[in-house]
Amino acid sequence: MRKVYMDHTAGRPVDRRVLRAMTPYFRGFYGNPSSLHSFARETRKGLKRARAQIADLIHAERSEEVFFTSCATESNNWAIRGVAARNEKRGKHIITTGIEHMSVTNVCKLLMKEGFKVSFLPVDEYGKVELDALEKELTDETILVSVMYANGEIGTIEPIKEISEVVHDSKAYLHVDATAAMGQLEIDVKKDDVDLLTLSSNDMYGPKGVGALYIKRGTRLEPLIVGGGQESGMRSGTENLPNIVGMGRAAELARAEMKAESRRLSRLRDRFIVGILENIPHSFLNGHQTERLPNNVALRFSFIEGESMLLNLDIVGVAASSGSACTAKTLEPSHVLRAIGLKHEEAHGSLLFTLGRQNTDDDVDYVVNLLPNIVKRLRAMSPLTPSELRENV
Ligand code: PMP
Repeated sequence: MRKVYMDHTAGRPVDRRVLRAMTPYFRGFYGNPSSLHSFARETRKGLKRARAQIADLIHAERSEEVFFTSCATESNNWAIRGVAARNEKRGKHIITTGIEHMSVTNVCKLLMKEGFKVSFLPVDEYGKVELDALEKELTDETILVSVMYANGEIGTIEPIKEISEVVHDSKAYLHVDATAAMGQLEIDVKKDDVDLLTLSSNDMYGPKGVGALYIKRGTRLEPLIVGGGQESGMRSGTENLPNIVGMGRAAELARAEMKAESRRLSRLRDRFIVGILENIPHSFLNGHQTERLPNNVALRFSFIEGESMLLNLDIVGVAASSGSACTAKTLEPSHVLRAIGLKHEEAHGSLLFTLGRQNTDDDVDYVVNLLPNIVKRLRAMSPLTPSELRENV
């Protein structure tokens, strides 16, 4: 049976060239980079190279502004908790949005229990942060604003440059979770004037289990993980060299290949979206039409549930998702879909396809040809389908 993988936001294969770069660091180069002997020299070199490759990708001024972590979740936790802990004397107010990943939202909720005030900004129907609302929320007490670069669940890209201008009229820091944008969008921390940026590795075909946090020089924050003082004392724990080297190589490849690949994916994405919206009545696009991630096809179908569509797609070899990979385990509709104003049943009718390197025009055709029949069959059985439409949807 044909297999079509379109769940890249949840997980990607490691690029062969990345794997090749990592392999020597499992057995050949195993010295601890903190040690004082020749075995450490090669691992130190690998660490330095990876840091520089990542700094290059995001146009950081210095590679010393890149700190390795275990994942994007840790980077988000660190950025927010670290700034809160270090700056609470300046103020105890944090601003974020209603569409962030749980690794941002849940840290903010914990901080609220510890006496911080957190404002959750509303977004418009496409998931874009409203700059007026941001301006109104900023006070002398605000120490941090955390907004994602792009949302993986609805594809919408946030106006980071404009957000940064508003934020930096105050004394607050700006943290940007760039996880979903990695390897797809050109990120420039200098142009966007970002203070802290969360980076992930698997989103650019690097290994899982490694991430990074960009910290602009001069940004004041406490470490989250303390111990042996690795990463300039900011993130302790013996460095995971194979993964770090892999993430560096993935960043180098993304820098060289991202532009062409994003162009290719955007074309596939648009063909996919048009193919569905034109062929399936009562189908809609979630998120912004043009300011969206090149690989993101977030659809919504009236009268039926995402889960039943997923199961039917799985039977014909197509892997998609009903929403954020991280929230798919709960029956609650995604907070992102609720934040853009979707009703409970609308959110449940959502289906997310995230494209990747191995997807082709044929894959898109395969899904665009199959999905109308699946939707039709499910609608014929669904108690939510109005009886007058039952024959024709
Ligand atoms: N931020 C965003 C926007 C995400 O989509 C995710 C999940 N891929 C994360 C953070 C957390 O990533 P991880 O599970 O790799 O820590």
